[in-house]
Amino acid sequence: MSKKVDLAPLLLAWYAQNGRSFPWRFKGDARPDPYVIWVSEIMLQQTTIATGLPYFERWMKTFPDLKTLAQASLDDVLKAWQGLGYYTRAKKLHACAQQVLKMGGFPRDREALLRLPGIGPYTASAIAAFAFHQPTTVVDGNVVRVLSRLYGLTEVVTPEKIYPLAEKLTDKKHPADYASAIMDLGATLCRKTNPLCAQCPWQAYCVACKKGLTASIPCRQKIAKQVVRGAVCVIVNKKNQIFIQQADRKGLLGGLWELPWSKQATWRPMKARWHQCPQPIHHIFTHIDLTLDIYATEAEKVALPGRFISPTDVSKYAFSSLMKKVLSSIGSTPSSVFQSVAKD
Ligand code: SF4
Repeated sequence: MSKKVDLAPLLLAWYAQNGRSFPWRFKGDARPDPYVIWVSEIMLQQTTIATGLPYFERWMKTFPDLKTLAQASLDDVLKAWQGLGYYTRAKKLHACAQQVLKMGGFPRDREALLRLPGIGPYTASAIAAFAFHQPTTVVDGNVVRVLSRLYGLTEVVTPEKIYPLAEKLTDKKHPADYASAIMDLGATLCRKTNPLCAQCPWQAYCVACKKGLTASIPCRQKIAKQVVRGAVCVIVNKKNQIFIQQADRKGLLGGLWELPWSKQATWRPMKARWHQCPQPIHHIFTHIDLTLDIYATEAEKVALPGRFISPTDVSKYAFSSLMKKVLSSIGSTPSSVFQSVAKD
């Protein structure tokens, strides 16, 4: 690719015609509320826009500003986040809101943003660019894919590796529009499969397109998932209630409610006559392929921190997607789960 061509204006011209609209996006010189930018950036990590958009809209109704979020209980925050996964992000969002409120508002520069809970290099750059029009470079998965193809990079590329190239290309006078534009290019034209090169403003300069390498670039590193078989335990009382407990706040799913469970197949929370249910639960995390065997028992008292709840009260508590799967397999009559397996 010729180094003399200034590619940013081509991209910005394309963006002016084709850029997508979102409730958190402000084009040109508009200065949006950093709170809106921050929430959208945290929420849309690891989540598609189609999934994240209704969550974002509900969130803004529940927590319309920084103060409301900072003063909410962690339980309410986790409840609003329920279903998005990666609950550590919700906890850090809450902690960050409290810290930023004390500071009197978000800092404008990337380095200060990086010191806040839950804000990593990508999010710090995004807030600095989108909310404060700071000349920072934003590199997400879309940007990695577009630039790997543009420059014909045939090795595995990480955001850190590609940052110097991305920084050179960034339009420092229009950092917000430039960042939105390259992300939109990646999402709409330079797609993972079947990129629409004929419509791309960078087609004439793109190495992968010229050499027919778009199917093999970016080169992906295969990460083998850890396969784990564990156990989840359904404790039912005579009132048809199930025992739940709140996960350790420090852990990955900390603060959420759950049935007692472990990644160890032989683990049980207490001595009892446990009966194995025929259907296990299968759940995929980013790095773990988890199968949980379900064991049921009957007990009126449990010497563990937690409580018995009726199936009709399940919606009042925040559960992870994994636990929702377990609960839905138990259904509205937990005692029948126990009774059906206890007969065997
Ligand atoms: S020409 Fe094709 S492969 Fe190259 S950047 Fe554009 S869409 Fe991506």
